[in-house]
Amino acid sequence: MKPQLIFLGAPGAGKGTQAKLLVDEWGYKHLSTGDLLREEIRKGTPLGRKIEKIVKKGILVDDQIVLQLLQNHCDLKAHNYIFDGFPRRLDQAKALDDIVLKGIYSLAVYFKVESPLLLQRLANRRVCHACGAIYNLKFKPPKEEGVCDFCEGVELTHREDDREDTVRKRLGIFEKRTASIVDYYKKKGNLHELEASLGLEAITLELKKIVNKEG
Ligand code: AMP
Repeated sequence: MKPQLIFLGAPGAGKGTQAKLLVDEWGYKHLSTGDLLREEIRKGTPLGRKIEKIVKKGILVDDQIVLQLLQNHCDLKAHNYIFDGFPRRLDQAKALDDIVLKGIYSLAVYFKVESPLLLQRLANRRVCHACGAIYNLKFKPPKEEGVCDFCEGVELTHREDDREDTVRKRLGIFEKRTASIVDYYKKKGNLHELEASLGLEAITLELKKIVNKEG
């Protein structure tokens, strides 16, 4: 039985990129709270407008809103999930265990990377809003400049909150809160740490070893 996976790591640590690979190869479902929030913003609902103001500032959205969105989008009886971007606060980690997972077998994977590398990765990150593909102008550029490889004619975007001043704030928030979350999973005994400054393929290999060993 494969574990439910909880990906921990700063913005730009490569969680989303690795998640996509596990989705394609092992049938995991990728549940990114950032993606769910951006989807809500795109819908333009009153809730979406409220969320937009918060996300633009690079600060965290209210726990209850994020938890509700997460619950609306997951069916743990039917699928294996990768939780990406959640938990971001210690209370969210507890809520994930007590309200969502309720004893279902899970594994937390911590993608460790130093801040300077993260800043560089995020400054060069471009995403396709249509299919979610993630590119890096330096390390993984699209075949045609500025356009998604998979969605004909769809232009890639630089997320507004990936701009340097907002990124610095997001990284600051992440560092402040991470230690307690990592500690929480360490005490529970289901934490695996991953050296995420390595190249894409090396990280994938490590990740698969971890999941296979536990699965
Ligand atoms: P991400 O795509 O994971 O980097 O998330 C983008 C933004 O969405 C964050 O900077 C937060 O404003 C918001 N967000 C994502 N996940 C959460 C969460 N678990 N709790 C609160 N806010 C979140």
